[in-house]
Amino acid sequence: MNRSAVWHPFTQHATEPVPPTIARTEGAYVETREGKRILDAVSSWWVITHGHRHPKITAAIRNATETLDQVIFAGLSHEPAERLASALVDMAPMGLDWVFFSDSGSTSVEVALKMALGFHRNNGFPRSRIVVMEHSYHGDTIGTMSVGARGVFNAAYEPLLFGVDTIPFPAAGREQETLDAFERLARNREVAALIVEPLVLGAGGMLMYPAWVLTELKRIAERSGTLFIADEVMTGWGRTGTLLACEQAAVAPDILCTSKGLTGGSLPLAATLATDAIFRAHYSSDRARTFFHSSSYTANPIACAAALANVGIWNDEPVAERVAALSRMQAEKVARFSQDPRFENVRTAGTIAALDLRVGNAGYLAEVGPKLRAFFLERGLLVRPLGNVIYVLPPYCVTSNELDQLYDAIDEAAELAGDGL
Ligand SMILES: *Cc1c(COP(=O)(O)O)cnc(C)c1O
Repeated sequence: MNRSAVWHPFTQHATEPVPPTIARTEGAYVETREGKRILDAVSSWWVITHGHRHPKITAAIRNATETLDQVIFAGLSHEPAERLASALVDMAPMGLDWVFFSDSGSTSVEVALKMALGFHRNNGFPRSRIVVMEHSYHGDTIGTMSVGARGVFNAAYEPLLFGVDTIPFPAAGREQETLDAFERLARNREVAALIVEPLVLGAGGMLMYPAWVLTELKRIAERSGTLFIADEVMTGWGRTGTLLACEQAAVAPDILCTSKGLTGGSLPLAATLATDAIFRAHYSSDRARTFFHSSSYTANPIACAAALANVGIWNDEPVAERVAALSRMQAEKVARFSQDPRFENVRTAGTIAALDLRVGNAGYLAEVGPKLRAFFLERGLLVRPLGNVIYVLPPYCVTSNELDQLYDAIDEAAELAGDGL
């Protein structure tokens, strides 16, 4: 028997083709065993920032393995984590003085939720409700699914999910409804925290909203003693045009989650940053107030070294300029579809461009999704539409010509989609 034993993520094995085997990655490309180069227009699920195998990151990983592997992080520390924590505090908005390491975006959010509940409880005023935004996504564990949108992805697990309060997505012209809904909920002294994806709701369909809404949400949270959790797992590290999306709203969250681009996408690592007030709520001679969380690979030294190399790249190379140039290119190139009747909601946020293909049956399970994926793959392009939402979220090293290839293919795909592909 030589069938694969691998059960792939978010993959319907009954209907999807056997996936190509990737043997090499470089820059904006992944390359199959057979030598076919595929342009990675989804940054390998939003993690790759500078490009695959940035030489400084691969060198840092190699060097770190000369002296370190995994080291228990309770009761021991190590230099890569110490240096990284201090660098993250320097780069983050004011007031985020403490860094708690974990190993994925989901765990960074779980940590954030636990910190928020611990904060209120240890301060003597327990609160347990979490307010979330409609269409949001924060991960695939039970806790993070609970604070994310309900739908076909989690219908089977619904009995295990905890209840949350949901505010509407701030669609254009309806932002005030979102703010009013939060204002009403925040008056309730049960609300521990608001968790949001700043500026762009990724898995929810690359939905974008303006920075001022974020500023107002933070203001309401502050007034009501509700903690503000920014899930920057996808939006961080330049994706929306600035290092962090929160910067565009001049918002300093109480808790900030970062993962995906933290190591430039090279290794799994996550960090949850928190204010001193949250740390102090857990700081006590009473050991019951300890922040009880860990995972085996917390602050893995090799991953921390990769993240430090990423920080070095941000400091030493013109990354901000590259991000700005890519953001301009994306806006210019996707604009060709803004009056195109085959598309709607043509939009960008920094380096991300998205547009909705007009089809009868929208939503994630739209028939057109897998067909589009196959269409692009055939042309050497890795594009993974979210249902009928086509988006381009490339590594920052992508060239203008490569983007042109992508948008030409999107044009062609829309043509064929009219004929059922
Ligand atoms: C991807 C993502 C997560 C989950 O990260 P994992 O590393 O896949 O667990 C959480 N929040 C947001 C906004 C994400 O895009």
